[in-house]
Amino acid sequence: MTHKSDTGTAEPVVVFPGSFNPFTIGHKSIVDRCLAFGAKVVIGIGYNRDKASSDDIMGRLERIRSVFSGDSRVRVESYSGLTVDFVKQMRGNFMVRGVRSVADFEYERNLADANYDLAGIETMLMPALPQYSFISSSMVRELMANGTDTKKYLP
Ligand code: ADP
Repeated sequence: MTHKSDTGTAEPVVVFPGSFNPFTIGHKSIVDRCLAFGAKVVIGIGYNRDKASSDDIMGRLERIRSVFSGDSRVRVESYSGLTVDFVKQMRGNFMVRGVRSVADFEYERNLADANYDLAGIETMLMPALPQYSFISSSMVRELMANGTDTKKYLP
């Protein structure tokens, strides 16, 4: 089935790649904002075959799918290997990444440049919402490891 908007053009398919270990409300806000401009979103959980267990990846996949269950505009998949290959496989028009800080920006710009050079795939950088800009997966993992309730950071 093809999806056409009122202008007769197809909706862009935006790929949002990341580790999502775990998927936070900051990540969800990036997805929601892409949906708000009319995109379809593919969330790609990137993993390293040598490092991640398949149970861990399955768990992440199921948790993120449950966040968007019933929303046909969102697809959630996992991949190992190059992100640009995953974007092509998903027939993505471009990818999106979030930027919380200048440090994020430097890192993301490098990745974006490399991916454009490698495969001609564009990356759109979206600024984090101010109220979520301190939230990171590593912060949530650290809190969990210390027995702190992290529900408010998880969708
Ligand atoms: P990676 O390991 O690939 O950096 P992450 O799962 O940590 O993956 O993050 C995926 C993307 O989401 C990155 O572009 C990151 O900058 C962005 N991101 C992480 N936390 C937030 C947040 N709170 N708000 C907006 N974007 C975020």
